Amino acid sequence: MCGIIGVFGSPEAANLATLGLFTEQHRGQESCGMAVSDGKVVRLHKSMGLVKDVFHEDVLDSLPGSLAIGHVRYPTKGSATSFNSQPHLVETLFGPSYALASNGDLVNYAAVRAKLEAKNVYFNSDNDGELLVKYIAWQISQGYEIADAIRLLMRDIKGAYSSVFCTRSELYMFRDPLSIRPMVWGKTRDGAVVVASESCVLDILGVLERREVPPAGIIRVNSEGTTVMENDPNLYRERHRNAYCSFEHIYFSRPDSFHFGENVFDVREKIGARLAQKDPDLQVDCVVPVPDSSNFIGVGYAAEKGIPLSIGLIRNHYVGRTFIKPEQTIRDESVHQKFNALPNFFEGKRVVLIDDSIVRGTTIRKIVKIIKRAGAAEIHLRIGSPQICHSCHYGIDTPHPEELVANRFSLEEIRQRTGVDSLKYLELDELRACLHSPDEYCYACFNGQYPLEKS
Ligand code: SF4
Repeated sequence: MCGIIGVFGSPEAANLATLGLFTEQHRGQESCGMAVSDGKVVRLHKSMGLVKDVFHEDVLDSLPGSLAIGHVRYPTKGSATSFNSQPHLVETLFGPSYALASNGDLVNYAAVRAKLEAKNVYFNSDNDGELLVKYIAWQISQGYEIADAIRLLMRDIKGAYSSVFCTRSELYMFRDPLSIRPMVWGKTRDGAVVVASESCVLDILGVLERREVPPAGIIRVNSEGTTVMENDPNLYRERHRNAYCSFEHIYFSRPDSFHFGENVFDVREKIGARLAQKDPDLQVDCVVPVPDSSNFIGVGYAAEKGIPLSIGLIRNHYVGRTFIKPEQTIRDESVHQKFNALPNFFEGKRVVLIDDSIVRGTTIRKIVKIIKRAGAAEIHLRIGSPQICHSCHYGIDTPHPEELVANRFSLEEIRQRTGVDSLKYLELDELRACLHSPDEYCYACFNGQYPLEKS
C-alpha cells in the first residue's frame, strides 16, 4: 500500500504535494519522495522516513516549480531501502527527463523486466515504479508518443498501478484497467490540477469537484489544459469489470475519503450494523472499537444495538499502524506501545470488542490481554471483515498464507487462542451487501478468486 500525489499549475507545487503526502501518510510510512519540475529541470528528493521529517523547509526551497509528483511508500515488493523508494527519475543529458510514482503491485514484473533487460534497459531497484517508468521511457525511445507508450504499457503490464508520470512540462495520470487501487483528481479554486490516492487529500488542498481516474484512463495535463485521452478500445473490450480493493473500505483508507463512489465511513458503519444484526440476543454493557480503523464499524454496531460506544482503548498515534510495520519483532513491540486501557473503565463490564480484521492474530491477542487485565467480565470479539485466507498480489503486504491465522486454526481455536468469550466475523455475502456495486470489487484475500493471476 502506498499513496501518490500529483500537482500541476501551482507556484506552490512542492508545498501542496507535501501537504498531500502528509495527509496520505497512513498509506505508507517507510519512505517518501517528490519530483518537481520548473519547466527546465526535474529535481528529485526522496528518503527513508516520514513526510514531516523528510520535507522540511530547506528541502522545499530546493524544489522550485509548478509541477510535482510524490509518493509515500509502504514496502511490498522490494525491500525498505531508499533505492526502492519513489518517485523514480529517468534522465538523459540533453534529452527529456521522466519521473513516475505508482501505487499497487504488478503481477508480471519479472517477465517484463527480463524483456527490458534483454533490450539493455538497466535497473537500480526491485521496485514496480522503476519498471513502469523505464518501460515508458523505452517505448518513447522507439518513437512512440507518451500516451501511446502508456497504452502499450497497459497491454503488456498486468497488475495494480495508479500512477503519476511527468516530464519537465506535463503531468500524466493513469490507472490499470481493473482500477484496483483508488485514484481521484480535480481542480483547486486557483486552477491547479491535483491527483491523489484518497479524496481527503483533495478536500484538504481545496479541490472543488473530485473525479475518479477512469479504468485504463490516461489524463494529460499541460499548459494547454487537461485532456482525458482515449482508451485503447481493444484493452477496454478485454476488461470485464472493475476490481476495486474492498480492503480499502475496511481498513486502509481514511474514513473521510470517498472511494469507488462510496464514503469509507458509510461502508464501515454498515459493516458495524451487519455485525450487530448477527447478535440479536447478546447482552453487553458497551461497544469498544480498536482505534482507529475500527471506530466507524463500532459506531455502526452501537447504533444498531442501541448501546453506548465507548473509547475504552487509548491509542498512541506516534507509534504508527501496527499492520504496516514490516518486521514481526517491531510489530510485537508496537502493540504494547500503542494501546492502553482507560483506567477504571473495563472493571466488571461485558464488552463487544470490534476490530476490522485479523491477519496473524498476534495483535488482537495482546489487545484482549490488556482489556482482561483492566478487569472486563466478558469480551465478545467481532471482526469487520471475512477471514483472510489468501495473500494480496496487488499492493498490500499480507503475509504468506501459512502465516495467516485463519489457515492455521479453526474458528473455535482462534477464539480460544485470542482468549475471548465469543468470536464472529463478517461473512463475504454480508460484506458485499454493504457495498453499492459489490460485483465491481476484489475480495481475493478472502475467497482466493484473483481478478488477475500472478505470472
Ligand atoms: S486481495 Fe484483498 S487486499 Fe488485495 S486488492 Fe484484493 S481485496 Fe484488496
